[in-house]
Amino acid sequence: MKTVRLIFRNRLAAAGLVVLGIVVLLAILTPILPLADPDVTNTANRFRPVFAEGHLLGTDHLGRDLLSRLLWGTRLSLAVGFAAAVFAAVIGAGFGIVSGYFGGATDNVIMRGIDMLMAFPYILLALAIVAALGPGLFNALIAVAVVNIPFFARNIRGVTVGIAHKEFVDAARLAGLSHTRIILSEILPNVIPVIVIAMSTTIGWMILETAGLSFLGLGSQPPQADLGSMLGEARGALITNPLTSIVPGVMILVIVMSINLLGDGVRDALDPRLRSGALTRPRAATVVDRRAPVPAPRAEGVLTMTDLETQFHVGARVYRAVNKVSLHVAPGECLGVIGESGSGKSVTALSVMGLVASPPGVITGGSVRFRDAELIGATYGRLRELRGDRVAYIFQDPLATLHPLYRVGDQLVEAIRVHHRIPRAEAWDRAVALLKQVRIPNPESRAQSYPHEMSGGMRQRVGIAMALANDPDVIIADEPTTALDVTVQAQILSLLDDLRRERGLAIVFITHDFGVVAQLCDRVAVMYAGRIVEEGPTRAVLDAPAHPYTRRLIACVPELGAGRRRLEAIPGLPPAVDRLEPGCAFAPRCLKTEAVCVTREIGLAQAGNRAVRCLFPETDLKREAAE
Ligand code: ADP
Ligand code: MG
Repeated sequence: MKTVRLIFRNRLAAAGLVVLGIVVLLAILTPILPLADPDVTNTANRFRPVFAEGHLLGTDHLGRDLLSRLLWGTRLSLAVGFAAAVFAAVIGAGFGIVSGYFGGATDNVIMRGIDMLMAFPYILLALAIVAALGPGLFNALIAVAVVNIPFFARNIRGVTVGIAHKEFVDAARLAGLSHTRIILSEILPNVIPVIVIAMSTTIGWMILETAGLSFLGLGSQPPQADLGSMLGEARGALITNPLTSIVPGVMILVIVMSINLLGDGVRDALDPRLRSGALTRPRAATVVDRRAPVPAPRAEGVLTMTDLETQFHVGARVYRAVNKVSLHVAPGECLGVIGESGSGKSVTALSVMGLVASPPGVITGGSVRFRDAELIGATYGRLRELRGDRVAYIFQDPLATLHPLYRVGDQLVEAIRVHHRIPRAEAWDRAVALLKQVRIPNPESRAQSYPHEMSGGMRQRVGIAMALANDPDVIIADEPTTALDVTVQAQILSLLDDLRRERGLAIVFITHDFGVVAQLCDRVAVMYAGRIVEEGPTRAVLDAPAHPYTRRLIACVPELGAGRRRLEAIPGLPPAVDRLEPGCAFAPRCLKTEAVCVTREIGLAQAGNRAVRCLFPETDLKREAAE
């Protein structure tokens, strides 16, 4: 259904569909329409004009009814074109899938055969095939299908090769599925859209080719009419009686145009990337639409966010992913941002440099200051200067952020040379030094490796080296250790810790793990449903959490050597941020909830260096601050 809707959104494709629908309907209904016999000749009645009595479109050189011949001819041409396309698609895709799936010698044999077919100009090849088989519509069909097989085989093989080495196919193999089962249940569903697209864009072509063969007298034989043979027979009277050429000519034009327009629409609608709205490429920087005046920063830091608000506008829905978040980090300091998945940590981090995809992301308020410069609403050129140079990111999955086809050394060189015009050799030396700094053994030879040749921990180190490449002032690390095992995680954490001490780096460390925060961070901010619910020095928060959510998050972390105790998971799920109720978002999951918790907004209550957004905190921060 969605496909049909998408096709109709493209006006030209919709027009193609309607026109083609009418033509096909007429072709199907031809046998029951009250038409004259298309093959009955009446030479006394030749070349009658349009609207002649009994002949709506006139007659041809043998006095046959043109309308009747046109409809029967269309019927035949459509059937032959469609049959040829199906035939070519099935055989070509079959070859393509087998060749792409098995690879090796099978691939070589099949593809060299296909190459041989492709070596001839296809119309010559079609002529040769019909010449060998003898003229006739069926032989023309075979010829047209055969010359189109290579097109399908090549296309589908390319797609299959890409799919055959994906993890889900390996998983199917591990599960003991036979080749046939894997091809039918894993590969085929993934290539069918490609087959359909290739078909929809080639049917028009095949109808033309069949018409071409018939025009040359190699396809349909007299008196049988198809569009090509009608054109061929009319050729003799092209000047004196152009009507007999125009009628089939216009029909060919209409059919091929409508099929091609529809084919384009089908291609756009079936391509999963275009379908999900990717036709709208994200902007270079997040859209800023601030209604309220820019707030003045309330804290000192190298990076300071004040009341930052980022939303996703999807149709009529508004997702408040980041809701008035204020954070700051000083040089040499590490700020932890912790929260469950979906609490808005990544969106906060990406908002800093305008990296949230727009559409649907919009920064609707607040300020982000880097030193003295306001970043929200800064020009794209300014953001680009800072991105990766002064403020760098480390992401969770280094395999996704490293380019698979470049050596890691070259990627580091690129990261450096984007911002500094230094000779390549010098940049390469720096890259090696960076790899050494992140404790990669044999950095000289490792710089020559491709990302897939490295382990997960190693790749994450490369990610860190890349972030360090331009000696930034701030590093924003978004769950950099989540994909790693504990020992590698510990090494990466101590590496980051050393770096910030050595270089005075400010680190914003995003995680969902209190253990990691305890190890690395000076201060911690707890996020829930797009808001900061608690903030303070790590030790103080860990020893005496104030927000019930923080306390229960900490209770989820096992302590080594602390004896046996129950680990309390927090029941329920974080709320959807497009339907936030007034008041505390944690209320439905909290054990201390009272009626007042959900009647009004609850502010972030500041006391000394700690803050909490709760009416009934677990720890009295005011008293704690006074002591
Ligand atoms: P996390 O804390 O796990 O990093 P995110 O910052 O990625 O969470 O996401 C925060 C919220 O933003 C989530 O609730 C998610 O539903 C919403 N969100 C993220 N990206 C989009 C998007 N493209 N469209 C709509 N909502 C989004
Ligand atoms: Mg995230």
